[in-house]
Amino acid sequence: MEGGQSTELGTVHTASNGAPIGDNQNSMTAGPRGPTLLQDFTLIDKLAAFDREEIPERIVHAKGAAAHGVFEVTNDLTKYTKASFLNTIGKKTPVFLRFSTVGGERGSADTERDPRGFAIKFYTEEGNYDMVGNNTPVFFIRDAIKFPEFIHTQKRCPVSGLKDANMAWDFWTKHTESLHQVMVLFSNRGTPDGYRRMNGYSSHAFKWVNEDGEAFYVQYHFKTDQGVKNFTAEEAHKMKSDNPDYATQDLFEHIDKGDFPSWTFKVQIMPEADAEKYKWNVLDITKVWPHEDYPLIEVGKLTLNRNPKNYFAETEQSAFSPSHLVPGIEPTNDKMLQGRLFSYPDTHRHRLGPNYHTIPINCPYRVQTRDYFLAGIHADEHEGTAKIPYQGKFNDAPKECPEHETKKFAVEGEAGRYDQSEHPNSDFEQPAALFNKVMDEFEQESLVQNLAGHIGSCREEIQIAALEAWALVDDKLSERIKAAIK
Ligand code: NDP
Repeated sequence: MEGGQSTELGTVHTASNGAPIGDNQNSMTAGPRGPTLLQDFTLIDKLAAFDREEIPERIVHAKGAAAHGVFEVTNDLTKYTKASFLNTIGKKTPVFLRFSTVGGERGSADTERDPRGFAIKFYTEEGNYDMVGNNTPVFFIRDAIKFPEFIHTQKRCPVSGLKDANMAWDFWTKHTESLHQVMVLFSNRGTPDGYRRMNGYSSHAFKWVNEDGEAFYVQYHFKTDQGVKNFTAEEAHKMKSDNPDYATQDLFEHIDKGDFPSWTFKVQIMPEADAEKYKWNVLDITKVWPHEDYPLIEVGKLTLNRNPKNYFAETEQSAFSPSHLVPGIEPTNDKMLQGRLFSYPDTHRHRLGPNYHTIPINCPYRVQTRDYFLAGIHADEHEGTAKIPYQGKFNDAPKECPEHETKKFAVEGEAGRYDQSEHPNSDFEQPAALFNKVMDEFEQESLVQNLAGHIGSCREEIQIAALEAWALVDDKLSERIKAAIK
């Protein structure tokens, strides 16, 4: 176009309105040494955009790394779920997987002792399905009402602005349901060697529903095909200064050179009727389901094969929620899950705005969405996010799908606040099994040293409480920690 820039689009530097910029090096001033003019849109456009580059950091899982990939079904589990992305062997679904640490800020070191987030977005033909898990099969607390206080103990002390072991152990010793997860955290699994070499777990039980309306409880396990590999505390500590972005770089560079990491997706399945009779509450996230009783069944393979093109647009703006479900996968009464169903979309609305789901990385682009969300900040209409026009023609409204409505489930009893701890030993049996039956001598000794290092930095009364708490799991473990502190 004569006189315009269109013929050279791609080579011309433009302002945010697309107009060509004449001079990007010198602000417009009144005379060569005079003050800057308010009319200098080139300058103000740039500074205003720069001033707004930061969005609120995630309160947890702030530091992350992510990649695109594909999930392929390798086993027929249609007798357990009608989820369409799982219904045919060989079926492939695009995915985006974000790994993260939990307690640290966006600039914190990747090798901090922390659980790791393991959040997958499956872009299915029935909408997006998010599996928002961790690299640990259990969690610290079983009721979301404790979550804010718990997380505050993992972050910086509001008085000193410092991380504070006293806060953490004060909480863990008063809420002994956390000891199972604390044991995993202070094993060398709390410092994995990058993101490629760790497993992912749903931690929660979900409900799968098949075409006949039968429901099953299910736990997810994503087993790394690279093999589990962890840093010792010393190695992790050294890496914090050698390369604080170690895990991010390791993931990016392996994918970049075509060495694609993969995970084998397996599930444990429990018929609904078993749950009532089982020795533990199977919807308690502080407990696992023993493999002996519920063996792993393969579902498929997840491979990461493409790095994001823009870290902020994709990794930072990606927004996962355990409430992003598809037909055939439903929530359970797990009290921690019930809180997360609300809290995750709520944090995304705060961080990214009410239309966070239309940002390309979050958009369910494989379906044509037909919703009544009309406006709000960043309202958008592009492929996959069509709005239903209000024309008063309700006969033309898109049809509801009763066959995809959540399966009805029974509730009973009086509404109230119920303590869900079970018999006195129930918080301690599984960590005791992990310590005595699963860990070898090297892992046990690493755990003892890692715990002693952290507990040993606490005030004396907190140390005593921590040793008493570990004695509830195993007297010998408590004695070994005490000796190591000395
Ligand atoms: P199993 O012997 O069948 O399973 C033990 C599992 O523990 C292993 O398969 C491995 O799972 C995992 N594991 C190995 N080393 C560690 C470690 N240092 N930290 C955390 N997990 C580790 O026994 P059970 O199923 O009866 O479980 C016994 C204990 O093992 C549980 O109380 C729990 O603490 C732990 N565990 C159990 C899991 C389960 O789903 N049943 C899953 C993970 C841990 P993986 O290959 O998945 O890493």
